[in-house]
Amino acid sequence: MPAKEKTLQEINEKIARGAAIVLTASELLSIAQEGGEIPDVDVVTCATKGIMSGTMASLSFKVAEKNEFVRAKGLWLNGVPAYPGPCPNERLGIVDTIVFGTAHSIYDDKYGGGHLFRDMVEGNDIEVEVETDTGRKLKTATTMENIAYAKMIATRNAYKNYVAYVNPSPETLYDSIFSVGPFYGPYKELKFCGCGELNPVEKDPGLDVIGEGTKVLINGAPGMVTGRGTRSTPEKPNLSAISDMKKMDPKYMGGFVTSHGPEVVSSWAVPIPVLNDRILKNLLKRDAEIPLSVVDVRGREEIGRITYADVWKDCDLAVRFDPKLCDGCEKCRAEEMCPRGALSFKEKRIDRSKCFNCGVCIGFCPNSAVSANLGEVEFLGKKMPITERHSDRLGAMKISAELKRLILSGEFKVTEMVEKIKF
Ligand code: SF4
Ligand code: SF4
Repeated sequence: MPAKEKTLQEINEKIARGAAIVLTASELLSIAQEGGEIPDVDVVTCATKGIMSGTMASLSFKVAEKNEFVRAKGLWLNGVPAYPGPCPNERLGIVDTIVFGTAHSIYDDKYGGGHLFRDMVEGNDIEVEVETDTGRKLKTATTMENIAYAKMIATRNAYKNYVAYVNPSPETLYDSIFSVGPFYGPYKELKFCGCGELNPVEKDPGLDVIGEGTKVLINGAPGMVTGRGTRSTPEKPNLSAISDMKKMDPKYMGGFVTSHGPEVVSSWAVPIPVLNDRILKNLLKRDAEIPLSVVDVRGREEIGRITYADVWKDCDLAVRFDPKLCDGCEKCRAEEMCPRGALSFKEKRIDRSKCFNCGVCIGFCPNSAVSANLGEVEFLGKKMPITERHSDRLGAMKISAELKRLILSGEFKVTEMVEKIKF
């Protein structure tokens, strides 16, 4: 049945009356797959959770009393370098600063900006070191409660589709932001990123409803799309945005330690109002219709294409831990390699609020105490196991369900864009 033409105002009136049908993207696709009649859906919540390097924080907070120093020249938060400014806040004892999500701690090579953002949102103590313009070093501590201003700025997030990586060379790659463990070749394994059929931009490919000013949910907090992201093209668009870190939920975010060091994880959920049949048709697009470039991890040249069905079909979305199979190896390599610090062999459990279901641990556990079917891909006549997922589809499903709940409860209003995004 074709979708009825509606205006956003009509949809919002239905939501206010409690008469709207709001579905997550996976719910809509399940109905279609089972051959059921597509209901007269008003809003579909789409989402993505993945490594999003183009993420930074803009912060402002007090570090000393007035006149204790003139200007800050350097700043470190839990050892993560931050850039003081742009306002110098002369003699005020306050720093304005920008922190990159990909910045690495000077003390701990497994801690970076993404970890810091999560620690802040969890309300943990943050150690602050300031270098003044006269070279004096000050040490203090703060928490999110005492940080007057904390916004997350996305410069390049929510890519429409990303890529899968292979190593065509016989030499193992040991240092890459696109790999947690060693990257074996030639064509021994495949790692990939992207939530495929759940991805918001994939579901609005013409950016007809997602535009400048569209309200979205970033890491559980309300945010606003500010336009296209860096290196965004009509074929591979991504989005920029701003959101309030004080309202974020830590389970949607954090650090992710690659073989090159820490990266940053973010989750987006975006409401797509079903204004017409064309929008509904895009929302019904399946993984098998969404191309996935396979690139050489060493230079990111495309070698060929598969689809998102090749990487998400018939796999387990969640990675399991069976304590009965964990006999306590002398050294738990699975725990050591977990890029999220989610696995504890002593506690014999996975911290579900941190686990990204990436699957890295599976390859390092000799007893299959951690397990999941990550699937395999046939490419260039070779069968390759999928060894790392850099997107967490289960996490994306959770944040899209959260957005659905917020819309239905009236806590999140679906808004009209202010301006269409131009390329
Ligand atoms: S590698 Fe596997 S079996 Fe060994 S301690 Fe870690 S989880 Fe347990
Ligand atoms: S799947 Fe394994 S390696 Fe990945 S975050 Fe979860 S526990 Fe860690």
